[in-house]
Amino acid sequence: MEPTVPTKSKRAAARKVQAAPIATLIPGDGVGPEVIGAALEVIAAAGVTIRWDRQSAGAAALRRYNNPAPDELIESLKRTGVALKGPLETRIGEGYRSINVYLRKTLDLYANLRPTQSFSGVHTPFRNVDLIVVRENTEDLYSGIEHEVARGVVESVKVITAKASRRIARFAFEYARRNHRKSVTAIHKANIMKLSDGLFLKCARAVANEYPSIRYNEQIVDAACMRLVTDPSSFDVLLLENLYGDIVSDLCAGLVGGLGLVPGANFGEKGAIFEAVHGTAPDIAGKNLANPVAAILSGAMMLEYIGHGRAAKRMREAAASVLQSGKVLTRDLGGKASTQEMTAAVIRAMH
Ligand code: ATP
Repeated sequence: MEPTVPTKSKRAAARKVQAAPIATLIPGDGVGPEVIGAALEVIAAAGVTIRWDRQSAGAAALRRYNNPAPDELIESLKRTGVALKGPLETRIGEGYRSINVYLRKTLDLYANLRPTQSFSGVHTPFRNVDLIVVRENTEDLYSGIEHEVARGVVESVKVITAKASRRIARFAFEYARRNHRKSVTAIHKANIMKLSDGLFLKCARAVANEYPSIRYNEQIVDAACMRLVTDPSSFDVLLLENLYGDIVSDLCAGLVGGLGLVPGANFGEKGAIFEAVHGTAPDIAGKNLANPVAAILSGAMMLEYIGHGRAAKRMREAAASVLQSGKVLTRDLGGKASTQEMTAAVIRAMH
């Protein structure tokens, strides 16, 4: 049989794919494949070609390879240095350790960034919420060091180091400087944990001194939660240890309409993983009900990171206009649309 000669347009398309950036794709568990699928469609519709290196992790990888974090996954992440990831299942109180935590530690993705902004059209008690949550990702009570000291007595070790505290504080101030933000608030419980949270604050203050144009505040975590739900506009960039960051970022998501809207990213010196703030949402998984916006916006953050700022902006604006018009909304936002219908609406809004 005669070999088929590629047409000019096919050759051009092949060249485009070859020149495209490579990124790892982890569809994840629960609603992950649905919302990551939505993000892929929107990225493609924004005109960006990416060579995805598809990998399994979490429960999906456990089923397939009997290992929730296969070597191929880690190698892919090290090779590409950038990933779009769905949520991974972590069973409560049993089984393997959190693969989310494992990936962040293994790749030293020390900074978790969660931009949390109001969307007009999404009705919440506050308008114009605009918070940047910066969470330390590698230590604190997530050290995984837990032991039974005696029957019925368990110790969990909270680890805080000067090195990790300084670098997350620097990340928060650098973010604030580059993005023209006015203040950074370190959130702590140093009145009780005088040594650990005390060290975190000491490091934050030292870094703050190097950024005189950015206001530096401190607030105890319980008081900060109260103020966040009464006067969120009094905060700008929030700087938190790992556990407070986990809790406070979900609280902040609630302020703008829920977990289905907030994107996130984990940054290290050598790479970044982009993922929505929400988890696997097992109650709605596989039902075409999940809100895809958080995953789409995480995809936009990834495009920004790899140098496709214009496409990222188009994706963000399209998602915002769908939310603003309020005609096609998923159930978590009071609408009736499916994941696929909302994704299609975002794509239509881009054209
Ligand atoms: P995990 O153990 O993976 O963290 P979870 O159910 O404890 O799962 P989330 O997955 O964050 O935590 O879900 C909390 C709630 O928010 C659930 O009721 C879920 O349905 C809802 N939720 C989370 N993500 C979305 C989404 N993208 N769209 C709609 N609802 C969502």
